[in-house]
Amino acid sequence: MAEKRWISETLFDELGFRMTYEVERVLYEMRTEHQHLVLFEHTYFGKMLMLDGATQVTTRDEFVYHEMMTHVPIFAHGNAKEVLIIGGGDCGIAEEVLKHKSVTRLTQVEIDASVIEFSKEHFPEFTGPVFADKRFESVIADGMKYVAETDRRFDVMIVDSTDPQGPGAVLFTREFYANCRKCMAKGGVMVTQNGVPFFQADELTTSIGYFRQLYADGSCYVAAIPTYVGGHMAMGWAADDPKLRQTPLETIAARHKAAGSFPTKYWTPEVHKAAFALPRFIAEKVEKA
Ligand code: SAM
Repeated sequence: MAEKRWISETLFDELGFRMTYEVERVLYEMRTEHQHLVLFEHTYFGKMLMLDGATQVTTRDEFVYHEMMTHVPIFAHGNAKEVLIIGGGDCGIAEEVLKHKSVTRLTQVEIDASVIEFSKEHFPEFTGPVFADKRFESVIADGMKYVAETDRRFDVMIVDSTDPQGPGAVLFTREFYANCRKCMAKGGVMVTQNGVPFFQADELTTSIGYFRQLYADGSCYVAAIPTYVGGHMAMGWAADDPKLRQTPLETIAARHKAAGSFPTKYWTPEVHKAAFALPRFIAEKVEKA
């Protein structure tokens, strides 16, 4: 019997460790115009997508990140109509956004058309409802260029990017955040994929430092995603209104009810509130950012 292949996440090589997964079957592997893409089946995590050696999404734990990157900003805002996703090619976040009937238009700007094309084949649970929804607009472009050139304004912006390497590096720059500021509607909020503070603290504090120079409020919230190794995952928070982060629990619960109380597996009004209570080692870094 042929020996099974093991695939490693190489994101933390410089820290001297790797998460390695036993591969049941490689479903898709290619070097795209922008990055190395491999999708494989794992006995426990199901389908796993890696880009440039970094785990992006698995069918078993995707709900944590996708729900927290979506429902926290939208329920904090309370009246989001125009939503922008930068990155997000697997469409896992888009699927969550479109659960909010109040949203009138969702624009997703993904740099790599291959990620979308192969997600249509391998993640139909995301792409099926998304591409069938007439509120959804898919744009293939560099997010940096899009926010620099668009004259549209967005209530909620979700930066579901890769890590600050390769095509994703520009999405962690002050210039990018300044252009996002320009296309943020009054009372708007932006959330960002901002790494695992235990291993990637500088990435988080640098982003929050820029947020505080450009926005009325800059901070983060956290959630634990099993395959984003290292404990808490940080989601950056940049808002036009400092009160959004303090939205009362009753208000969040009432907004979920008004949105039809759609089912969730991780997000709850209580988890939403608790996510902004940062563990001291993260809070101290955020304070100094
Ligand atoms: N949740 C994942 C994570 O936290 O690492 C991210 C998932 S999503 C697949 C990341 C997407 O960002 C990829 O499809 C990648 O092609 C896209 N991306 C990277 N750089 C980009 C850029 N400059 N503009 C737009 N999309 C970009």
